[in-house]
Formats: sequence, C-alpha cells, structure tokens
Amino acid sequence: MKQNNGANGRKFFDIDDRLLALAEQTEQDIKPAKERTENIAFINQQKVLAAFIHNGVGESCFTSSTGYGYGDVGRDKLERVFAEAMECEDALLRHNFMCGTHALTVALFGVLRPGDTMLCVTGMPYDTIQTVIGISKQPASGSLKDFGIGFKKVDLLPDGSVDIEGAVNALRSDSSVKMVYIQRSRGYSLRPSLTVERIEEIGGEVRKVRPEVIIMVDNCYGEFVQLTEPCVHGADLMAGSLIKNPGGGIAATGGYIAGRSDLVELCSYRLSTPGTGREVGCTLGHSREMYMGLFSAPHVVGEAIKTALFCSGLFSKLGYDVTPQPNELRADIIQSVMLREPEALIAFCQGIQSGSPVDSMALPEPWDMPGYDNKIIMASGSFTLGSSIELSADAPLREPFAVWMQGGLNYAAGKTGILIAAQRMLDKGLIRL
Ligand SMILES: *Cc1c(COP(=O)(O)O)cnc(C)c1O
Repeated sequence: MKQNNGANGRKFFDIDDRLLALAEQTEQDIKPAKERTENIAFINQQKVLAAFIHNGVGESCFTSSTGYGYGDVGRDKLERVFAEAMECEDALLRHNFMCGTHALTVALFGVLRPGDTMLCVTGMPYDTIQTVIGISKQPASGSLKDFGIGFKKVDLLPDGSVDIEGAVNALRSDSSVKMVYIQRSRGYSLRPSLTVERIEEIGGEVRKVRPEVIIMVDNCYGEFVQLTEPCVHGADLMAGSLIKNPGGGIAATGGYIAGRSDLVELCSYRLSTPGTGREVGCTLGHSREMYMGLFSAPHVVGEAIKTALFCSGLFSKLGYDVTPQPNELRADIIQSVMLREPEALIAFCQGIQSGSPVDSMALPEPWDMPGYDNKIIMASGSFTLGSSIELSADAPLREPFAVWMQGGLNYAAGKTGILIAAQRMLDKGLIRL
C-alpha cells in the first residue's frame, strides 16, 4: 500500500478510500506509458539544453528593451534557440502574440493573398479559427473571407482519420489552393490527434499533386509531445501558443510561428508592418520568463502528459469512455472523457477548479465565450489567466458531454486535481463505486 496520508495520518483533502485504491491500480496500469513519457522528456530536454548552449545564451539576453526594441539581442537569440529546438529554419517567438489564435491568424494573413484558397484537410478547424476564416455562425469583420481568401475543407473519415484521397482530389480540382492546413490537436472534437509521422504521410501525398503547396500546421498542444516537430516531417510552417506547451507554464503570454525562413519573414511583416518586420518589438522584461519557460517546456509537457494518463486510467476504471486510451501513443496533451450528462461535466470542471492553486473558490459555470458558437465551461485556476499548460478543463455544452482536460505543471498536483474532480462527482452522486 502506498501512503496517501501525511504524517500522523493527516489528510489534506477528503478523498474516498475507494477512489484512492483505484488511483493505486491506475498507477500500475499507466506505468509503461509514464516511462515512455519520461524518456521523451529526457530527450527533448537535451535538445532544448543543447540549443541554449549552441546559441550561447547568457545573462545579457534577459535585458529588457522599450520603445521600438531595435537591436534587442536577447529577443533575436531566443528566436534562434527556439528554431533550433523545433529543428526548423526560423521562428518568431514573441510576447506580442496575444494568444494561439493570434499567432495562427498572423501566419494565415502573412502567407495568403486575395484569390488564394486555404484547404483544411482535418475537417472543421478549431472554433476560433472558423471566425478568422469567416465561416463561423456569428461572423466577425476582417476575416480571410473579407479579404477575398477562399476556404475549403476535407471532412474526416467516419473513424476520425484524414481522408487523404479526398485531400488529393480537392487539390487536383482547384488550382487556387495555396495552403494545405493541418490541425494537429483535436480541438473540441473526439478525433485522434495527429502524430508527426501521420502529418508527414499526409504532406507527402499532397506534395505529389502540388509540390509547391504550403503545408501549415496548427501545432497547439503538440510541442514536445513527440521527439520531433511537424517541420521535421515536411510541414513548411507551424504556429502555437506560449500559454500552452512551449511556454513551460512560465511565459506570461505570447505565441510563435516557426518554419521555412521565407514564410516566417512574410509573417513578420504581418505581425508588425511591411518593412519593419521582425526588427521592431520591444521585450518589456518578458525575455527571461520566455527563456525559462522554453527551457522547462519539455519537462512540464511530460508532467502534463502523465496527468492526462492518470485521468484516462482513472476514468476508464470509473466506467467512462476515454480518448486517448491510457496506454495509447499520444500526439498532444489533451485527454477527453465522455461524461455523458451535463451535470457530470459541470461537476468535473468545478472539481478541477476547486483543486487549483489559484481561484479555488471560484465556481465555473457555462457561458457564452467570444469566438465560440456553443456555451463553454472552463476550469482554470492558473497563475497565468487561461493558461492550459496548467491543469485545466473545458468543454462546450453539447453531446456527448465530453470534457477536454489538459495541463498540470507537476504530476503530484495534477493527479491531486483529477482526484478532487472525481470526488466532487462522487459527492454529487454522479459516479457509483
Ligand atoms: C488552443 C488552440 C488554438 C488557439 O487558441 P488560443 O486560445 O487562442 O490560444 C488553436 N487551435 C487549437 C487546436 C487549439 O487547441
């Protein structure tokens, strides 16, 4: 028996003994997957450390700049370190990206021109990106569509996999397709996330038809989950958020675009202005946190994945359908649990919130969030507002009342949070043991 209580039998949280017993069995079940995760973190940590060393990161890199930010050596070096860690030609990594959607938007507007078409081969893109494209139910001004940029999608096959034949046919029949867009993570869907190997396969097939097509990957939640990143596997450009994986839970805000240097340069003119590009952008004291976050990211991503493994294992023992399965190979940090009823979904999210270090006293409720079409419930008791590399859970209120949980800065805290969520469901009579 493992020790669940503190000295003198002290308990910090009231967790049912039967849940704790299930937790111990879960630990046994997920052992191989945890080991695999730790090994990936070990290799990725070396990759990042080597990039710091090769680029000669020094104390002077953490200097703050103001105003135009011309000649900010720390900022420019951080982008080279990141490009090396992502094993691609170039990168923009800035606190000026306000979120992942913003980084993706800059990449789309940076590369596409009026008359071009974006072809998404992973079905409907993530909710906020639909608004950027101009296909959401509540249209917003300034979308790609407003600028004469077309959009087409290839639906996923019934098993959730990419319809490569459909993608190839779409490319053959439309010469305006300039970009093939791949969303690696599942978003608010239940399809499997895409491994870098699968991304390479898709890219290889579309390139046979149109060698010059730009392959762009929404890499949100995918960074450091596998040993390599999409650009090593044929993607030309990728983007993501620093309050997810690559910020390591330390970056206070920001995002990145990485990939082929000619495309990254185009994006820099959209991020700032045509002409100034990447030369402007003061760092206002953010550099040290961004370096520290990137340095910690491989480890923190490993902790988040272990938290997801525990959640997957525990809730499958509690009788819920989960995806991915506890020992399945992972391509992102997301864990979905089909909670089947709105009450269970709400209780789970409220439990995660109540087991968080910050704002534990808040009670999350479903609300209308800008950029999303359904009501959303979000639990995020994080040090950085909305950070989802920290333990968090969210879901649109729709069938099958699945929750998407992710994050966990350290496994002990992540595991505790999951147990508190299960306990809340038990207290509400929503699970039976
Ligand atoms: C998180 C996410 C985004 C960007 O969302 P932000 O909240 O703007 O950072 C885009 N695509 C996917 C798949 C995501 O998970």
